[in-house]
Amino acid sequence: MDSTKVCIGLNCGKEAKLQCPTCLKLGISSFFCDQDCFKRNWASHKSVHSNPLNDSSYDPFPSFKYTGKLKASYPLSKTRNVPDHIKRPDYAQDGIPISEKQMASTKIQALNAKEIEGMRTVCRLAREVLDIGARALRPGITTDEIDEIIHNACIERNSYPSPLNYYNFPKSVCTSLNEVICHGIPDKTVIKEGDLVNLDVTLYHNGFHGDLNETYIIGDINKKDKGTKLVYTAKECLDLAIKMVKPGTLYRDLGTVIESHAKKNGFTVVRSYCGHGINSLFHCAPNVPHYANNKTAGIMQPGHVFTIEPMINEGSSYDTTWPDNWTAVTRDGKRSAQFEHTLLVTNSGCEILTARLPDSPGI
Ligand SMILES: [Zn+2]
Ligand SMILES: [Zn+2]
Repeated sequence: MDSTKVCIGLNCGKEAKLQCPTCLKLGISSFFCDQDCFKRNWASHKSVHSNPLNDSSYDPFPSFKYTGKLKASYPLSKTRNVPDHIKRPDYAQDGIPISEKQMASTKIQALNAKEIEGMRTVCRLAREVLDIGARALRPGITTDEIDEIIHNACIERNSYPSPLNYYNFPKSVCTSLNEVICHGIPDKTVIKEGDLVNLDVTLYHNGFHGDLNETYIIGDINKKDKGTKLVYTAKECLDLAIKMVKPGTLYRDLGTVIESHAKKNGFTVVRSYCGHGINSLFHCAPNVPHYANNKTAGIMQPGHVFTIEPMINEGSSYDTTWPDNWTAVTRDGKRSAQFEHTLLVTNSGCEILTARLPDSPGI
């Protein structure tokens, strides 16, 4: 984004140095050249502030001790509809992933050629959907509006949004802002300039799940500050781990590389959430921790498909969960950033099934 702002006063166009204080609170980007211009334009400008969404929103957990500035902002929008012609995973109706529970073993499946083709297709679709969600991010949009955009993009691709009703998760994407580590529920929260926003998208298409996430900086991505460094470091941690993916690598060794890079940059690694196997099941073996000295089982073999998704924290590595039983936040309220890919182990290395496209937004 350009850092020189232009005054939005009628027929003005001068360089702007002043931000409307009400817009600032609402997360809307509105700049004026000076006080006089701001006053002259007040009558027409103030309509920008009447955000009907915002007026009726409330914190459903008023007695909860939030760890940072972010609070839940309810009511949630009503459950989005998935048309009947779209194939659903087994938990879509009652929230319980029966097939995942039955498969609960540490044995890692190697997929056959047909299954790999299915994974390629769904992962490519998931990438398209993430990019659509990312392009919609701007100050002033709510996380629920992002959910709607992502939900519709899944439906247009004949895909079920995997998070929807998985263990009763109420929405179609996870939106995790600032101190939220993962599993944030889209609600009436308004995205503001300077926020770090993670979108975690998973699609279910033709019997297979494809999963990826990225963290987006709302504003200047070249700004030299700790938040920007955190996001770049999280991405580098994922990239370094991907370089190790090939037949014969121990799953437990990925955490060594990730944690050493995070530490070198002054950050920590979340221990409570891990990468996972993924195929016709949303989550299965292997379990892929991102911290050093873990004892996870398994050796990479051609045909294994799994995610790596390091969550890197500005402060302490400890997490806690909101009373919604989903939103995982840092215990010290400092920020967290994450990137995720779904990967296929090939004969010589790996294929990033959710790879970025030439025009993918973000870093
Ligand atoms: Zn995942
Ligand atoms: Zn994900």
